[in-house]
Amino acid sequence: MRKRKERPAFQKVNRKKQGKNDQGRPYYELSITYLDGANIFGPGGKDRAYEDIQRAAELWEVDFVIKEIIDGSGRNNSFRLKPGFSKKDLVCGASFGRNQALLSLLKTLTHKGRSPNHIIHIIYTGFASFADGETAGCAFPLQMSRWGNSYHFILLTNSAGTASNRSLCAHELGHTFYRTARFQRNIDPTTLIYPFRRPDVHSHLEDNVMYPVPGSNSSLLKSQKEKAWQSSLLIKES
Ligand SMILES: [Zn+2]
Repeated sequence: MRKRKERPAFQKVNRKKQGKNDQGRPYYELSITYLDGANIFGPGGKDRAYEDIQRAAELWEVDFVIKEIIDGSGRNNSFRLKPGFSKKDLVCGASFGRNQALLSLLKTLTHKGRSPNHIIHIIYTGFASFADGETAGCAFPLQMSRWGNSYHFILLTNSAGTASNRSLCAHELGHTFYRTARFQRNIDPTTLIYPFRRPDVHSHLEDNVMYPVPGSNSSLLKSQKEKAWQSSLLIKES
């Protein structure tokens, strides 16, 4: 990375004001990247990542620490971090790792696989959507080296940053939490309350944050939060 505009390390985003008893509460660590063309302001007019993370913290009842913000949007005197891949390369799933331009960006962000892999990387792209013209965000794990553990990435488009899509980032974080929950498959716990439905990564509840099209949904059940709290990415200070 040529130049970094960093916020102070350990900027803690809490679900509510930190009280006396919150000392030592477990948290997730995040790295935020804005690519060329990405909206840097959220629908509330504040820093987009901060709005997204604040909302996710409240919905999931977890804390986050933003370790770094790499502002490559080219605005506000920042440098331009051109993605090097186009909208047609943005497909959600395993094919991510096969796109060389995207892979090279992810390698740079993880310092060629040397940075700690409990950090969740959230990348805001300048595209309106993914290649299919519909998908607004995606969460996926990727191994940077053959023997290494996976890193966790979340890619979001500009349509994930609108007033009617406030829960997109929290939704994608949910996938990352589920995927890394110990001894559990990547399934949404609410799917298990329907005996005649197959276990699914998404909730069938229409007002739920883990509904396939979450919009600005704000409902999460206790079982979902409990699963998120079991993620191996959660940092517990001793
Ligand atoms: Zn989803």
